[in-house]
Amino acid sequence: MGVRRAPTVSMLRRALAQVQGDIRWQESLVPLTSLHVGGPADVLVIPADVEDVVRVVSGARMGRIPLTVLGGTNVIIRDKGIRGIVMQLQQFTTIHQEANQLVYAQAGVRLPRLMQFALSRKLSGMEWAAGIPGTVGGGVVMNAGTRLGEMQDVLQAVDLVTIRGIRKRVEASTISFTYRKTTLPRGIVVGAWVQLTSAAKGAIESVTKHYLQYRKATQPLTLPNAGSVFKNPTGDSAGRLIEAAGLKGWRIGDAEISTKHANFIVNKGAATAEQVLTLVRKVRETVARKFGVRLQLEWKVIGEK
Ligand SMILES: Cc1cc2nc3c(=O)[nH]c(=O)nc-3n(C[C@H](O)[C@H](O)[C@H](O)COP(=O)(O)OP(=O)(O)OC[C@H]3O[C@@H](n4cnc5c(N)ncnc54)[C@H](O)[C@@H]3O)c2cc1C
Repeated sequence: MGVRRAPTVSMLRRALAQVQGDIRWQESLVPLTSLHVGGPADVLVIPADVEDVVRVVSGARMGRIPLTVLGGTNVIIRDKGIRGIVMQLQQFTTIHQEANQLVYAQAGVRLPRLMQFALSRKLSGMEWAAGIPGTVGGGVVMNAGTRLGEMQDVLQAVDLVTIRGIRKRVEASTISFTYRKTTLPRGIVVGAWVQLTSAAKGAIESVTKHYLQYRKATQPLTLPNAGSVFKNPTGDSAGRLIEAAGLKGWRIGDAEISTKHANFIVNKGAATAEQVLTLVRKVRETVARKFGVRLQLEWKVIGEK
C-alpha cells in the first residue's frame, strides 16, 4: 500500500468519518516500535473490530490515502514518520479453540501468547514462536519462524480484509511461503487459523524453555531492537559475516551493532532511524567489499524520506 501523495487533514477526516475505534492525530509511532525509532503518523487508527477495519480500508481506498499496518517489531519507521493512515490492531487480542486441534487467533495477538495458549491446551506446533514478539498478523505476512519451525508449518487459513474492503478466508494451501516472505494477497490480516497437534505439556515446555534460554544467551534482549536486521544468505549466517567483517560494536550515535549478536542493531538511548539506516548501509558495503555477499534486509523500512 505505497505512498501516493500527502493527504490533507480533511481528506483523512472524510476517510475515517465512520470509524468507531480510537483515532489519534499526529501520534508518535516511536513507542509502538520495538527499536524505539521513528516519527509521527498523520493519523493512527486503532480499529474496534473487523467491521471497523473494513471501514478504514474502504475509506482509505475511496480517498486514495496510503494505509500502513503496524505490529512494530520488524519495521524501521523513518524519522519523518508515515503519511496517511497507520493502523494498529491492538484490540484484536482474542484466541479460541475452534475444534480439537484448530485454534483461531486474532491478528493483534502476540506470538508468545498464542504459544502459551497452545501450551495450556496441550497443543504442539507453536514452539518456534517462543520469544518472537511480533503479532499473528505480522507473523503470517512475514512467515515468521526460527530453526524450530515457521508460520507456514501450522497455518491453515488467513482471515483477511482485502484492499477492496472485503473479508475473505484465504486457505494457506493457496499461498506460497519462502524465507520471511509470502504471496498472501494484499490486505489486512485480521486473524489466522493454526492447525496444531496434541502433545504432552512437559514435552512442549521443555522445547520452549530450552529455546528461550538459547535466545537469552545469544540475543541482546535487554536493549530495544527490531530482531534480525538481515536475512541469512543461503548456506551462511548474516551474523557470522558481520562479525567476521569486524563490525560488532560499531556505533553511529546511539545505534550500535550489538556486541552480543552481530545481526542485531540496538538502540543505546536516543538513536534515530537515520543513524540506524546509515549503520545498515555501512554494514552492507563492508560485507560486500570483504566477502562479496550482498546482504538483504529482513526489516521493512517504511515512512517518509
Ligand atoms: C527481539 C526480537 C526477536 C525476533 N525474533 C524473530 C525470529 O526469531 N523470527 C522471526 O521471523 N522474526 C523475529 N522477529 C521479528 C518480528 O517479531 C517478526 O517478523 C513478526 O512476525 C512481525 O512482527 P510484527 O507483527 O511486529 O509486524 P511488523 O514488523 O510491524 O510488520 C512486518 C510487515 O507485516 C505487515 N503487517 C503487520 N501486521 C499486519 C497485518 N495485520 N496485516 C497485514 N500486514 C501486516 C507490516 O505492514 C510489515 O510490512 C524478532 C523481533 C524482535 C524484536
